[in-house]
Amino acid sequence: MIIQDAPAKKITIDTEGDVRLHLAAVYRLLAHFGMDDLIFTHASARVPGEDAFLINPFGLFFNEVSPASLVKLDFDGNVVGSARHAANAAGFVIHGAILRARPDVNCVIHTHTRAGVAISCLADGILPMNQFAIEFHERIGCHGYEGIAFNMDEGERLDRDIKGKIALVLRNHGLLTVGATIPAAFYFTYYLEQTARVQMDVLATGRAITMPDEATIAATMQQYTSARDPAAAGHRMWPALLRLLDSNYPNWRD
Ligand SMILES: [Zn+2]
Repeated sequence: MIIQDAPAKKITIDTEGDVRLHLAAVYRLLAHFGMDDLIFTHASARVPGEDAFLINPFGLFFNEVSPASLVKLDFDGNVVGSARHAANAAGFVIHGAILRARPDVNCVIHTHTRAGVAISCLADGILPMNQFAIEFHERIGCHGYEGIAFNMDEGERLDRDIKGKIALVLRNHGLLTVGATIPAAFYFTYYLEQTARVQMDVLATGRAITMPDEATIAATMQQYTSARDPAAAGHRMWPALLRLLDSNYPNWRD
C-alpha cells in the first residue's frame, strides 16, 4: 500500500510586499544555513503583474537584507522606484535572463558555497548516490564557465541550459535553482546544497561507494516527480523556516 501526506497549505505570495517579505526570508535563511558568500551571489523573485523583479542591494551581507532594502529592477536593468543601494551587475545578467525566459519560474537562487563550487568542478557532476541527489537526477542542467557574468550574451546560453530544468550546475562557479514559488526555489537550494555537501564528503573518504541500483533510482525519481510535489514540500516547510527566523532574528521583517 502506498500512502501520501495530506496536501500542504499554500503560502500566499500575491503582492510586491509579499514577495519582498519572502525573498528577504530567503536571504536570511541562506545566511543562517551557511549558504551565503559575504556580499556576493544573489536570489531574485518576480514582482507579480509587472515586468520587474527584486534582488539584493549590492554591499549588504545576507543577514542584513530586509524586505524594504531589496532593489526592484526592470528587464533592461533599470532600477524601478527608489533604492538606497545599487544591484549587482552579474546578478542582473543571470536573474534577468532566466526570469525573462522562464514564465513558469518566479524565483531564482544562486549560491557559491564551498560544496557547491567544489561539485561544480567535478567532471562527473552530481551522482545519484543517495536520496538527496536522486531528486536532481536528469533534472539539473549544466552551464559552462565563461568568467564573471558581465556579458549580456551569457543570458542566452543560461536560458538554453536551464530549459526544462529545476537547477543548474554552473561549472567552476557554483549552483543555481529555480522555482515556481519562493518556498519551492528555497527547497531546491537547500537540498541541492545537501547533495553537494554529501557527495564531496563521500568522495573525500576515498572509499568504495555503494550506489543504488538503476531500477531504484528510476522509481525514486518517479516518486519525486509525481507523488511528492516539490512546491508543496517547499510550502510545507516554509512556516517552520519563518518561525526559525522570527525566533533567531526578531527584526528581520523590518
Ligand atoms: Zn556567481
